[in-house]
Amino acid sequence: MPNNHHKSYKTDVLIVGSGMVGSCLAIALSGVGFKVILVDQVDPLVQAGNEFDGRASAIAATPQKMLEEIGIWQYLKHKFMPIKDIRVADGGSSLFLHYSHEDVLCEALGFMVENRHFRQACMAKIATNKNTTFVAPCKIQHLSRVAGGVNAVLTNGSQVEAGLVVGADGRGSKIREIAGIKCTTRSYPQTAIVLTVDHALSHNKVAHEHFLPSGPFAILPLRGKQGRTNRSSIVWTEKSEVAKIILNLPQADFTNEFKRRFGEHLGDSTFVGPRWAYPLSLQYVETRISERLALIGDAAYGIHPIAGQGLNLGLRDVAALAEVLTDAKRLGFDIGSVTFLEKYQKWRRFDSSVMLATTDGLNRLFSNDIHPIKLARDLGLAAINKLDPVKKVFMQHAMGSTGNLPRLLKGEPL
Ligand SMILES: Cc1cc2nc3c(=O)[nH]c(=O)nc-3n(C[C@H](O)[C@H](O)[C@H](O)COP(=O)(O)OP(=O)(O)OC[C@H]3O[C@@H](n4cnc5c(N)ncnc54)[C@H](O)[C@@H]3O)c2cc1C
Repeated sequence: MPNNHHKSYKTDVLIVGSGMVGSCLAIALSGVGFKVILVDQVDPLVQAGNEFDGRASAIAATPQKMLEEIGIWQYLKHKFMPIKDIRVADGGSSLFLHYSHEDVLCEALGFMVENRHFRQACMAKIATNKNTTFVAPCKIQHLSRVAGGVNAVLTNGSQVEAGLVVGADGRGSKIREIAGIKCTTRSYPQTAIVLTVDHALSHNKVAHEHFLPSGPFAILPLRGKQGRTNRSSIVWTEKSEVAKIILNLPQADFTNEFKRRFGEHLGDSTFVGPRWAYPLSLQYVETRISERLALIGDAAYGIHPIAGQGLNLGLRDVAALAEVLTDAKRLGFDIGSVTFLEKYQKWRRFDSSVMLATTDGLNRLFSNDIHPIKLARDLGLAAINKLDPVKKVFMQHAMGSTGNLPRLLKGEPL
């Protein structure tokens, strides 16, 4: 249960934002003896509620190893659905790209988890942990960074002294703003409509991504009731002005629009829960560190969900920052020192820049219907499908298994 009494805390790390990324960092650090204060503006009962976030996330293979290592995956044992294959198609074209787990000799290409289950797993794990004090609903009223540490005053009147503050407070990060870190934002003229559907036929653990002129339409396999394979999460990207109209259609018209895109390969479908809308934007920061301060997850960048990689990037931030801080502590160094934080920044900069550029480029390439471009990309998809080595490189990057991996992403202890 979160602690909400007016108090004075002395801690190692103050984490602002208990989303999936901030919570994972709190769990990873407190597991190796760091004292953590975790603050969020939203009541955790609301955040972990079924109605808070209609999305599901594709978790890549290496972040999944970390979730297992830090003790979160155990809570998700009966909640996830492995993705065995991915089929990428360009609208109605007969040329497509097919990724199979067999190509990379893995049990699965990734795992679909509903965000509500992920958040509930984090909250359950945090509740068992003596080293994390969870203060919510609460915000930072004042933050100052001095040579010896960070001093914060919370909106409930509590005071926190810490060695480091981590901004895990999402796209509109207040911590980023307090630190004066410049953030560039560009809105995509697109909105993602998110839905959950039950369908008559099994998805067979296959994810589908159809590139339609207004944006990608993804059908992502979920675990249904009693572990059945008849539920999917839909991420349906539309031009924002069209999305507004579609979202407000009466049920019968909405169903018709949906079915035109969903197709018939999974049989009859029924909606489970409400329609959700997420306006899309791209964001990047000039730096993700400053004196006694680090940014992780969506506070550090925001990418297009076309490849389902935003949370995976955030989880990779967690693995890198947790390792840098743990090594600094073991060697007796100051965890807030820029020398160590610089290691985190360098470790993560390339991966997030590549992913930001790739997702932006893919969206530009596919979200149009200009004939020569369409022809070139269809031939490109078909060519990649035939070129085994190129296909494997793409797959390994998406699975997060390339580059110099932090210990947690290899499933090793911190
Ligand atoms: C439609 C869609 C589909 C997606 N699918 C995938 C996918 O399949 N795979 C994938 O890897 N990624 C996916 N993503 C991206 C992913 O959802 C995000 O990258 C991820 O949720 C970011 O998590 P976070 O913890 O960094 O930020 P957030 O989830 O935004 O959490 C921030 C937290 O900070 C708190 N907070 C904010 N401001 C304050 C404040 N001032 N004081 C205190 N607390 C504060 C908030 O209450 C919140 O709890 C998708 C995104 C979209 C839009």
